[in-house]
Amino acid sequence: MQTDFLVIGSGIAGLTFALDARAYGRVTVITKKESNETNTNYAQGGIAAAISPSDSIESHIKDTLLAGEGLCNPDAVKIMATDASHRIAKLSEMGVEFTKSHKSEFDLGKEGGHSARRIIHTKDRTGEAIETVLIKEVHKNGIDLLEHCLAIDLIIEDGKCIGVWGFDTNRNEFFPFLAKSVIIATGGIGSIYLHTTNPGIATGDGIAMAYRAGVPVANMEFIQFHPTSFYGKKINGRAFLLSEALRGEGGILKTKDGCAFMEKYDSRKELAPRDIVARAVHSELKEKGDDYVLLDITGFGARKIIDKFPNIYKHCCDLGVDPTKEPIPVVPAAHYVCGGIVVDMKGKTNIPGLYATGEAVCTGVHGANRLASNSLLESVVFAHRVDKSMVKDSKIEKLKIEDLENSMQSTNSKLTDKSSNHLEEKVISDYLLQIKNLMWEQVGIVRNNKELQEAKNKISKYKSEIEELYHKYIEIAYKSPLRQAIATFQLIELRNVVTVASLVIECALIRKESRGLHFNLNYPEKDELQYKKRDTILKKLDK
Ligand SMILES: Cc1cc2nc3c(=O)[nH]c(=O)nc-3n(C[C@H](O)[C@H](O)[C@H](O)COP(=O)(O)OP(=O)(O)OC[C@H]3O[C@@H](n4cnc5c(N)ncnc54)[C@H](O)[C@@H]3O)c2cc1C
Repeated sequence: MQTDFLVIGSGIAGLTFALDARAYGRVTVITKKESNETNTNYAQGGIAAAISPSDSIESHIKDTLLAGEGLCNPDAVKIMATDASHRIAKLSEMGVEFTKSHKSEFDLGKEGGHSARRIIHTKDRTGEAIETVLIKEVHKNGIDLLEHCLAIDLIIEDGKCIGVWGFDTNRNEFFPFLAKSVIIATGGIGSIYLHTTNPGIATGDGIAMAYRAGVPVANMEFIQFHPTSFYGKKINGRAFLLSEALRGEGGILKTKDGCAFMEKYDSRKELAPRDIVARAVHSELKEKGDDYVLLDITGFGARKIIDKFPNIYKHCCDLGVDPTKEPIPVVPAAHYVCGGIVVDMKGKTNIPGLYATGEAVCTGVHGANRLASNSLLESVVFAHRVDKSMVKDSKIEKLKIEDLENSMQSTNSKLTDKSSNHLEEKVISDYLLQIKNLMWEQVGIVRNNKELQEAKNKISKYKSEIEELYHKYIEIAYKSPLRQAIATFQLIELRNVVTVASLVIECALIRKESRGLHFNLNYPEKDELQYKKRDTILKKLDK
């Protein structure tokens, strides 16, 4: 299989890039599950843009820089805020129906950390509205969109990225896919945590893949925990999100016994940035020994809840709570990663032919903390900017497929016992659960040196065991038509999960201060001297 642009991922970033790139060559998008199974599809609140006459681009920039606590790249922030209204106009033109107010202008929502109403939304299903239109456009434009194709690793020849190794779960087959440019748009990493708002696809595959290939990865310690996900039942392992827009509209956080508590923590109360609210909830839970706090939106009145938040209303009722009549039980959950693959302002990595965009990258827009509704915006703005001119000059060299196949099979597997190729799915799910638990307990909202070090030791043990299992099984599975498709898929993801978990821990240990989303009890203050302008960058040395 061969193409000009090979895009990995069918969220807002991958699809935006694909639609732009079709003017420059053949575009193929591969995605590991159904095309709309993306973080994008579950985004509720909206997408930020300073378009109100009482707002300004400067104010959007200022709010973003303030939230990022000294670590934002000001150039990236300026690019994002300035291009926001163009990207919104383009999405509307394509057919995304953003909610309008009675004057036919966009109905602008308010969210924590934004000093003005600037959240453009489609009721409370903004991501789904965007995803649906983008997928339709991709089909309309004849772009190949291949579902159930999991990218495993990048193919690097003479220091250049020339494609990816993949696994087709439907056909139960491995494949090499060659391309003049490869674009990683694989999204976030929420699934490395026990409680997350992210769907199961968010296993950080692109970040792990890039890191293995020698691309630097930055700021992985900055994990955003959303303060309000539904407590109790989950949907396919995903905690249902209670959008920030609910607090924007006046939702109140209360302890189980009905006492509002945010005033104790921040003068902005419920509208303080997410990290502050998440830590406040964490602290209340610890202090009281409760399992959850309450988000009370009953004051909105039933009409407003049903009209403005139909998705949330329906899901809460399905999960057993009627939010028009009773407060919703909520807990924090891992939501977003601010760090990722290091790229320049045109999505370029340090490997020729390899680009990356979306939540998988670190452009520096978010710094140490992300403002609500800036991530869809970052994805659409920077995916649009990814360099497409390179493809004109590059050729796919004639490659010997046998050489590729040899590189696919591990050459350094030290295992001698290759007698059995049966893989127990339970072994994989047990590892996954242990990692998720460990990350939640010891690398969560509030961290400390002792637990981080313990987590590091455990994860590095799991990592070597999983690598061994991976090499042993994949080497055999590659040659055997009897391979188990589901177990193969899960093992490939597990290897990425443990890799990404180790990157988060490593970065958290390097940053000996508390800033933005990274809070360490042993260093509760910011260290402006050492870390104010310092990204935490990791690079694999033995590539
Ligand atoms: C519940 C929820 C609510 C949110 N609400 C908002 C909001 O209101 N506003 C906002 O700005 N942001 C919000 N976010 C964050 C935002 O949705 C994401 O940051 C953004 O959608 C990321 O887009 P993306 O294209 O980079 O990744 P995604 O949309 O996650 O897409 C990643 C794609 O990569 C594919 N993929 C992954 N690994 C592989 C592989 N190995 N091989 C092949 N394909 C692969 C996946 O299957 C998927 O298609 C929310 C996130 C969640 C989870």
